Amino acid sequence: MDGTIQCPRCGETMSVEFNDLEDDFLDVECDGCGARLGINYTATIELEDIEVLSVPIIANIICSYCNTDNDFEEIEEKAGSEQFECENCGALLEVNWTDWGEKVSVDLLEEPEENRMAQEWEDYDGDRFWGDEI
Ligand SMILES: [Zn+2]
Ligand SMILES: [Zn+2]
Repeated sequence: MDGTIQCPRCGETMSVEFNDLEDDFLDVECDGCGARLGINYTATIELEDIEVLSVPIIANIICSYCNTDNDFEEIEEKAGSEQFECENCGALLEVNWTDWGEKVSVDLLEEPEENRMAQEWEDYDGDRFWGDEI
């Protein structure tokens, strides 16, 4: 028989098909946020509990600095923003997402530290450092 469940993560309701004959465990994907849900239920179609088994990773977060593709996990809200460092170059990025990660934009907040140091080194006036008195 069909039953209706509600995703504990995003609140989306959806219908699932239960096995009438025995207690079982269902593994479904949420229509709203794409999380995998595990549903324990009994033959009387009383829901025991619903847990979030796994959530989709937002992929294709392209670092604006080095163009590396980063994965971004575990968003807890439908829309929001979070800062993280690029796995490859260490640049500080800000990710803004909506629709549980279906729409994503990435801003470069800070260039990687190594690059900032290299830049300072290039700007450094070597003559002044060593001085003229020997
Ligand atoms: Zn959901
Ligand atoms: Zn990068």
